[in-house]
Amino acid sequence: MNYQKILEEIKEEIIPFLKKGKVADYIPALAKVEVDDFAMSIIKLDGTEYNIGSCQKLFSIQSISKVFSFTLSLDLYGKDLYKRVGHEPSGNPFNSLIQLEYEKGIPRNPFINAGAIVTTDTLVSKYKQNTFPTILEFIKKVSGCQTINFDQDIYKSELEHGYRNLALINMMKSFNNIENNTNDVIETYFKQCSIMMNTKQLAKSMLFLANHGTIPNTNEAIVTEPQAKRINSLMLTCGHYDASGDFAFHVGLPGKSGVGGGIVAVVPQKMAICVYSPKLNKQGNSLVGTKALELFTTKTNLSIF
Ligand code: GLU
Repeated sequence: MNYQKILEEIKEEIIPFLKKGKVADYIPALAKVEVDDFAMSIIKLDGTEYNIGSCQKLFSIQSISKVFSFTLSLDLYGKDLYKRVGHEPSGNPFNSLIQLEYEKGIPRNPFINAGAIVTTDTLVSKYKQNTFPTILEFIKKVSGCQTINFDQDIYKSELEHGYRNLALINMMKSFNNIENNTNDVIETYFKQCSIMMNTKQLAKSMLFLANHGTIPNTNEAIVTEPQAKRINSLMLTCGHYDASGDFAFHVGLPGKSGVGGGIVAVVPQKMAICVYSPKLNKQGNSLVGTKALELFTTKTNLSIF
């Protein structure tokens, strides 16, 4: 299959959609992007890469970081983690408070904000002040790139405007589902969201999930095969908030989006993909990114269904 040609076709076919959507501005620093930017990277298990657009440009990974923190937490706590965060789609917006009250502070899944804040709390219980460096080191390892870091301005902007996330963490603390100091946890969560990566690095960082939990080129096992299966299935069912069903319907791959405009997707036993375009649909997922991935699975027949 000529993946480079397919990427070129996709880049042409998404042009009409670049007009649609809106960049996230509830975190003001996130709005400082080139709104028509587009990049897409594919990396196969053997390391062959295909790229198009601004694939070297760093952007804020936002909720894609939830995959990394959940992976670390699952590795540490195994099934016990599910006592504190569930594995069902929420059917609600990523930052919703309503369900959390009904369900006594146990978030539906680790890929909505409340769930990711709990997984970060489990990491703070283990790594204390060293939690963010541990998350960052992990991302450097799975992406094979030592230069990755977070953006101070985006981090500060999240801290200043993160009223809903503060409400979520405080509500969960009131239900005894946060073990540590809420400031320590939320600061770590905001830092992980502010990590900057490009589509090449992000695609590479997902390869272990396409390869039963093991980084293909180093053969290092990151998680067990059953754990990799769980992470992928949660990405499929919960990776796009209340548009997760829609993403499965149109794209048909495990994936995770972030309000920075990135989406990662996994083609089991074959490759990982990352697409970037900062304008979002109503549910907070990259509009062009979703379309590009839909075009990709239509052209290649590589949906899992
Ligand atoms: N930092 C963002 C927030 O907490 C992450 C949301 C997202 O990417 O969906 O609101």
